[in-house]
Order: sequence, then structure tokens, then C-alpha cells
Amino acid sequence: MKHLLQIYVKPYLLRMAVGLVIKFTGTIMDLFLPWILAYMIDRVIPEKNTSQLLYWGLVMLVCSFLALAGNVIANRMAAKVAGEIVEWLRHDLFEKVMYLPSAGVDGWTKPALISRLTSDSYNVHNMLSRIQRLGVRAPILLLGGIIMTLNLDLALASVLLCLMPVLGLIMWQVTARSVPMYTRTQEAVDGFVRLVREDIAGIRVIKALSKTEYEKERFDVWNRQVVERERRAGMTTAILNPSMNLILNLGLVLVILVGAYRVQAGTSQVGTILAFLTYFTIILNAMLSISKMFTILSKGQASADRISQVLESEDERQLELQILDRIQEREGGCTILARQRLWEPEMPERKAKDLQAGEEEKEAPFVAFRDVSFSYHSGKLVLQHISFSLKQGETLGIIGETGSGKTTIAALLTGLYQADSGQILVGGKDIRKQKFGELREQIGIVFQNDTLFEDTIYENVRLGRELEEAQVMKAIRAAQADEFVRKKSGQSQEQLNIRGANLSGGQKQRILIARALAGEPRVLILDDSSSALDYRTDMELRKAIRQEYSSVTGILIAQRISSIRHADHILVLEDGRMLGYGTHEELMETCRSYQELYRMQTGEGRMP
Ligand code: ADP
Repeated sequence: MKHLLQIYVKPYLLRMAVGLVIKFTGTIMDLFLPWILAYMIDRVIPEKNTSQLLYWGLVMLVCSFLALAGNVIANRMAAKVAGEIVEWLRHDLFEKVMYLPSAGVDGWTKPALISRLTSDSYNVHNMLSRIQRLGVRAPILLLGGIIMTLNLDLALASVLLCLMPVLGLIMWQVTARSVPMYTRTQEAVDGFVRLVREDIAGIRVIKALSKTEYEKERFDVWNRQVVERERRAGMTTAILNPSMNLILNLGLVLVILVGAYRVQAGTSQVGTILAFLTYFTIILNAMLSISKMFTILSKGQASADRISQVLESEDERQLELQILDRIQEREGGCTILARQRLWEPEMPERKAKDLQAGEEEKEAPFVAFRDVSFSYHSGKLVLQHISFSLKQGETLGIIGETGSGKTTIAALLTGLYQADSGQILVGGKDIRKQKFGELREQIGIVFQNDTLFEDTIYENVRLGRELEEAQVMKAIRAAQADEFVRKKSGQSQEQLNIRGANLSGGQKQRILIARALAGEPRVLILDDSSSALDYRTDMELRKAIRQEYSSVTGILIAQRISSIRHADHILVLEDGRMLGYGTHEELMETCRSYQELYRMQTGEGRMP
């Protein structure tokens, strides 16, 4: 919360202050109106002085106009300021989420991040706009109202002052009980949103496995919980308004009784009583507004804290700097120089040197794992002492059972997670010495079940990158996607919208592969992404990649040996460990698991 106020509210303080001064002026005008009315009734009307009557009528008109204008202008300014602050906050939060390391996203969980970007930022918006609108108005109306009543009639004001502690107590009790109830309701809403999100995303599998009834029951449980918690919080706050109204009415009756007695006795006047009744209502409404403000403030504060936690968490930009500092410590050199190497474009002389070394580089490891071990948060090692080495243009096939760590290798190569130990090279360089952006620009990757966006196929392949049309079309052709796109739409790829296309699993995979190829990456990683292709298309695809993107270094993760048997190196994984590493022929000689797998998949015995 402190973090948010310091960073996001500070630049708007001047504008907020101007708004508050305007609001202050409007509110003071509001406060004067009953007083002027009382003056007119008690003094001006009995004197029957028309010009005085007109004069005070005009003053009332001007005050009403100033009150209206002041409030409207200040409210608009408040809405604008709150909107701008939250737009900026959401922008930063979204950026933060985009830069969060995968381990961070796992830790927060996706639904929690979504609710911070949606309902939490809405609550902060509500808090900022309400504080500006009521933060000045309500206390001034309360205090000003009390001062005015004290000035008008001390005896009547004491009636009001006696009632105030009762009102305060009711408000305090209701607020203290309802705020934690709303916090619990918000937690239930989080769970509810998570379930809805999972169920809608997985609607096909739910139907296919006839889990509809089961999911409906789960949904009903959460739905009931949200409704129940909201009902309880609502029941508690529902006491507030009627009981305040009751006390207001009781107070009014008392004021009228005491007032009537005082008018009769000649110690007070009708206008004063009328004004007093208006102030009484103003004071009560101000108290109600303040209690509402507390609810909104505590809701907003809880949300601001949740947003702050994400904003203050470490993202990939800070990770890069930390890694740099560690390298720096080890090399004992100058930090500034090392940072320049990462954050600034490469020096021309470095480039020239790199060109000279180009030939040698072809022989040097281009993509490599050197004794890499890794665990997710649980601490259990998911990869243990993994090593492989590819020269530029070579291909590695990775094969192994589900859960053996194949996808984790792809995630480490793209820097989504950091290895616990060992070294990873991409483009011939240690990935810890590369910016995340620089690293990922070299890589084209397709994960399992990657996302297609609701856009045309062409845009899905281009994905906002500055690519020539020829590059996109070449990738679509190489991924064997052009044929079905044409068949399906009878028109060009550019216009076929994903939403209406109703694509099969294999067709989706081909578009995703085209997306990875379109950027002409130096390293291509396909994680089980041709599993839905028939053998012929799979073969055509591999042939096209070899021909059209001959210099690409490939990593193919597959379940079928046929998809990887022609790879230059094959890595056999089991439970995060290397069971075998070599060419297909070598593994058929040396690796028992590989032989078994081959036999199972082909029904053959040993390879000839
Ligand atoms: P594969 O691709 O071979 O099926 P993965 O690399 O996806 O295997 O998973 C290897 C192991 O790591 C599995 O035991 C899996 O449960 C675990 N794992 C994968 N992703 C995560 C994650 N984000 N957090 C924690 N554990 C994970």
C-alpha cells in the first residue's frame, strides 16, 4: 500500500489538492444554505422587506450554483485522477506479470494474478475515487454541521450531541464486523473464478469424460459459498441504514418536541428549527458516508496490498541484473562494463571479431547442457546431471515417458526457469550472459497445447512481429499448413479466422509450428508438437524444415521414435536422468530402454 501511494499517487497530489479545494468550496456552500434559509424565515420575512428578500434569495441561488458546480467539477476531476492512476497501475502490473519468471507465475497462480489485474485494481480505483469525493466532503459536512447547529441553538444541539455516540457505536460495530466478512467473500470469489476458468477452458474434456454432473456440483459448492458469504456480509451491513434512519427519526421527533417547546417559550424561532432539522439530516448522511468510506478503504487497502506484493516481487529484469552481479563477482571485473555487455547493443569490433570466428564457431557447441540439474519449488530434482551438445544445424531428439523432464529441458533452454547447477549454452553463449529478450529472439518454440489467439491464421503466425509476408507464407508452407487452410476457406490464409475455422488438433499444431518457424530462429524447439500429425505429414514437415531452414539447430521432443530417429543425437530420459545419449544406431546397440521402446512402437526386433 505504501509502495503504491508513494509511486502512483504522488505525481497526482497537486491535481488532487486542487480538486479537494474545489470540493471544499462546494461543501461550504452546501453548509451555508440552511443557515441562510433560517435567517430569511426568522429575520427577513417578518420585516416584509422585498429587496432584502430578493437579495438573500439571490445569495441562496449563487450558493446553490457554487455548491453544484464545485461538487460536479471536483467529482469529475476525482474520477479522472483515479482513472489515470489505475490505468498506470494496471499497465505496470500487466508488464510485471509478463516479466514474471515462470517460477513466480507458478507461485502466485494464474487466477490470483488475473484477480489482481481485474477485481483488485477495480477496488483500488473505487477507493481512490471515493476518497477524493467523500474524504473531504463528509468530514466537513459533519464538523461544519455540528458547528452550525451549536451556533444556531445550543439546547437543540445538545440533543444531537447526545445521539452521536449511539450513532458512532452502531457504525463502528457494523463496520468492524462487515469488513472481515467482505474480505472472506473476496477469497471465495477468487476460488469461484478459478473454478469457472478451469471448467470453461476444459469444457471439452469435462464433456468427454462425462464429468458434467461432478463439475456442476463443484460449481454449486463454490457458488453457494460466495452467495452465503455475501449474504452474511449484506445482512450485517443491512442493519446500518435502517437503524441510522430510526435514530434519525427519533432525533427529529426530539428536536421538534424540544424546538416546539422553545418556540412556544420564545427562546427559539421556526426558521432555526427548520435549519436545525436540515443540519441534522446532513450530519447523519455525513456519518453514513464516513462509515461507507471505511468499508471501501479497507477493501481497497486489502486489494492495494495484494497488488503491491506482485509489483514488489522479483521479475526477469532484476534476475538479469543479479545474475550479472554474480558473474561479476566471480570474474572480479568491473560491473559497469559487464552490464554494458548485456544491456547495450553489441560493439562493432566485437561483431567483426565474431565474423572472423564464424568458421570456428560452426564446430563449437551451439546449444548445450553441461551437467545441468534442476528442481521446481518442491525441491525434488526433476533433472539430474543432464548433458548434451549440438553444433549449429544439428538436431537433438529427446524421448522419454511423460513426466521424465522433457518439457523442463525446453523451459530451461528458453530461460523460463533457472537451472540449479550446470551450464546451458544457446547460440554458443552461456544463457546467463544473455538478456532474456536476446536469448528468446534466437529461439522458435512450440510447447504442448500452446495458445492460438482469436485472429486470422496469418496474424497468429506473425504474432505482432515485424515479419515480411514472404517469411510468414514460407513458414506456413513449411509447416504443411497452407494446403488445409486453402481447402478450408477457399480463400487466402490472411482472411481465415481461427474462431470460425474449427481446427483439428493436427491443424492447430501446424499453425503453431509455422509461428515458431516464421521468425527464422537459430534454434527450433518442438515439444511434442507434431504428435497429432499423421506419419506422412510429420515426415514432410521434417523434410521441409531441413530444406528451407537448413541452418536451424533443432530440438525435437517426441513420443514416437519415428519422429526423432534421424536426429544427429538422441537423448533418452527417465525420471529426470539420462538413460542414453547417441544416434539411433548407437542407442539401438547400447540402450535397453530405447530398444524396448522401438520394439513396442514398430513391433520389430533389433534394428538391422
Ligand atoms: P515431460 O515433458 O517429460 O512430460 P515435464 O518436464 O513436464 O515432463 O515434467 C517433469 C516433472 O516436473 C514432472 O514430475 C512434473 O510433475 C514436474 N513439473 C512440471 N512442471 C512443473 C511446475 N511448473 N511446477 C512443479 N513441478 C512441475
